Amino acid sequence: MKKTGKHKPHIVFLFSDTGGGHRSASEAIIEAINLDFPEEFTYEMVDFFKEYSPPPLNLAGPVYPLMSRMEYMWEFTFKASDNPDFMRVLFSAFWPYIRFGMYKMLREHPGDIYVSVHPLINIPFLRAMRRREITTPYFIVVTDLVSTHTAWFAKEADLISIPTEQARKPALYAGIDPEKMKVIGLPVADRFCKPPGDKKGLRKKLGWSQEKTIILLVGGGEGMGPLGTVSKEINQAKLDVGLVVITGRNRKLKEELEAMDWNIPTHIYGFVTDMPDLMRAADILVTKAGPGTISEALIANLPIILYHRIPGQEEGNVSYVIDEGAGIWAPNIEDIINTLEDWLNNPEKRMLAVENAKRLARPDASRQIVQTIAEMVRLNK
Ligand code: UDP
Repeated sequence: MKKTGKHKPHIVFLFSDTGGGHRSASEAIIEAINLDFPEEFTYEMVDFFKEYSPPPLNLAGPVYPLMSRMEYMWEFTFKASDNPDFMRVLFSAFWPYIRFGMYKMLREHPGDIYVSVHPLINIPFLRAMRRREITTPYFIVVTDLVSTHTAWFAKEADLISIPTEQARKPALYAGIDPEKMKVIGLPVADRFCKPPGDKKGLRKKLGWSQEKTIILLVGGGEGMGPLGTVSKEINQAKLDVGLVVITGRNRKLKEELEAMDWNIPTHIYGFVTDMPDLMRAADILVTKAGPGTISEALIANLPIILYHRIPGQEEGNVSYVIDEGAGIWAPNIEDIINTLEDWLNNPEKRMLAVENAKRLARPDASRQIVQTIAEMVRLNK
């Protein structure tokens, strides 16, 4: 995505498509730029792995989903590398190999501010900037909720936006000056942040039951985790609920579920573009611990049952939701069914989780980030 023009401050977003979160964070911020400063900035998004990294690093995007599915290896890599000294040594070792790409990127994408939404670009790009004596403001927007890898926290950055109070701790551990951190929230698309609509009207439009408690089942953009098994078990448990399953890009699962006979009113969707409406029309979310889905659900005031998480990277998301009382960790099918039964029989418990979700929601994050960008650009003029 690129919007260019003359004489306007230019914002360069540094991202890569390793998972969906970095792109959607950039797009949410760009959306907020167009809402709050429609004519004041130009911007572009640069995928540094794809466009400026030597092989095989340029394949990081397509390889990422395969790697993150090898959970034990992923967990080991995440935890073993989550150390500031280790990362510095690692990037120094890689520097001769990646530096030409970094310098080229710097040359080809001059800007008035760099906004990084990816952990792995910060140390090498800031090194390239330092060596070329470029002092453009550098703003890091962290897009993991709590288990934030140390690579996010480059001391040379001018400012770091942190999504939760809990994520301050790893930033401090990495030696970041508290003055350089701002707890803002995870940038979420504006359509999630509108005031809640009329649930009845939404359900009518979607053709969902008005009477039943509606359970929304989501497995991230890829329909990952035991989504099929969970939906079948909820069906078997014959709870007095309606079920909505979003299979995302997992077409095989969609076909399989569509061919089933259901004991309860069930709606199956593939990849949806109206997630905000579906969240607002539902009563309970059952999902994997993706930061995007969790942040969106909090804004929609949905109580959350988490059944799966990527080891390392998403572990903190689980403790965040549970410790703050917005949901339950239910890694086994029985835990999910028991929690659903408990919430159906004791609505006050579910309502407590709703209240906690409401308290944690940060619907203004994208717009606050844009205000911060505008301020940083203004101060640097
Ligand atoms: N999503 C969507 N349509 C779908 C399934 C998911 O728009 O059919 C969105 C969801 O709203 C969220 C993102 O995809 O914004 C998933 O991000 P998350 O961080 O939860 O998980 P990931 O897929 O990146 O692991």
